[in-house]
Amino acid sequence: MPLRLVVFGRQGAGKGTQCALLSGHYAVPHISTGDMLREAAVASTSFGLKAKSYMDRGELLPDDIMLGVIEERLAAADVVEHGFLLDGFPRTKGQAEALLNLLGGGAGLDLAVNIEVPEDIVLGRIAGRARDDDTAHAVTARLEAYALYTMAALAIFDSKGLLVTVDGVGTPDEVFARLREAIEAGRA
Ligand code: AMP
Repeated sequence: MPLRLVVFGRQGAGKGTQCALLSGHYAVPHISTGDMLREAAVASTSFGLKAKSYMDRGELLPDDIMLGVIEERLAAADVVEHGFLLDGFPRTKGQAEALLNLLGGGAGLDLAVNIEVPEDIVLGRIAGRARDDDTAHAVTARLEAYALYTMAALAIFDSKGLLVTVDGVGTPDEVFARLREAIEAGRA
């Protein structure tokens, strides 16, 4: 059965790692909007260069641009057949509402999971890694954008009874086990 999942988590919560594990386990395409934008930036298309300027500042791209990107990706054959694991989308209330519309009001979604790691812990984790867009300013801006905009997206899934919060503090294996448990329960 296809699995259709949205994964939330602030920067440094281990979302990328867990999405890779989940994608392998459930054989579902991992759709990371951040990865898609970084690929476009490396290819130096005009869209990619525009995206990079937002990413380097830790700012969100406009909703209409992101919606175009995601709409096209969700229409692809692998998604239609196997479902999707959305990583990094939706990130605003507008994106969340548009996604739910696209998915028939939520009927096309199994679950949204929130990997919860408190801000003070993610700051320690981020300090220990180096991605080239991880300037201190960009990290702060991303955490602020999460609190300002993405929490409102989370609230929409919560209000529809589609959100489960999973404790993201622990080893990657421990968190992965909690996620599988939440997904099995939410799917049943
Ligand atoms: P991520 O790898 O998910 O942390 O995304 C890296 C950067 O790409 C973000 O800081 C934003 O600048 C941009 N980005 C990714 N997904 C979105 C989205 N859904 N809406 C707006 N901007 C996004």
